Amino acid sequence: RFITLEGGEGVGKSTNLDWVCSWLDERGIEVVRTREPGGTPRAEAIRELLLDPSSQEPLDDDAELLLVFAARAQHLAQVIRPALARGAWVVCDRFTDATFAYQGGGRGLDMQRIATLEALVQRGLTPDLTLLLDMSIEAAQERVDQRLGQQGGQRDRFERERQAFFQAVRDAYLARAAAEPARIAVIDASHSLPAVQAELAEHLERQVAL
Ligand code: C5P
Repeated sequence: RFITLEGGEGVGKSTNLDWVCSWLDERGIEVVRTREPGGTPRAEAIRELLLDPSSQEPLDDDAELLLVFAARAQHLAQVIRPALARGAWVVCDRFTDATFAYQGGGRGLDMQRIATLEALVQRGLTPDLTLLLDMSIEAAQERVDQRLGQQGGQRDRFERERQAFFQAVRDAYLARAAAEPARIAVIDASHSLPAVQAELAEHLERQVAL
């Protein structure tokens, strides 16, 4: 099985990823935990290129998109396909839904071009289950502020642009979930951690039973 976890910033993706992997592990399932962009040394090097805040040179949107898929091709070849072939379960922190959400929704790239690259690179391989942790941008931002020990409330122009970007990311995730309800489970991440995990468990039980 191929399971991916998605969601914006501050929705509790890391905590719940740990939990999903332990849940599977406790049931004797071999779990390969990985992440995107990245997951192999070369793909992690591409991640550095993508996220490098120190670079003065703006990253072209198409270059960004191609780098994301270059990393994905490497990750699929080196980690994901071999693991699935030997019967392990792959649990991946972000996958192509994040490309539709961040590069498509956030940066406004044409979704059809992303879909073309998806078909080229994945050749039909898509996750069996995608767990989308969803909550309002404001509530998620409050969590991030709390974690960083910062005061919220600062709403300058840059901050408003950031908010609009994350709102577009969230909207794109939700649109994908609406289009593919059988694969993508929307989990209300504003609920308590035990409530979120009870919901995650339901979806995992269903995968185990298949
Ligand atoms: O999952 P994680 O929070 O570690 O991702 C790091 C950052 O990479 C995210 O905050 C997101 O802004 C960015 N990202 C992106 N495009 C993707 C995947 C991630 O811009 N396709």
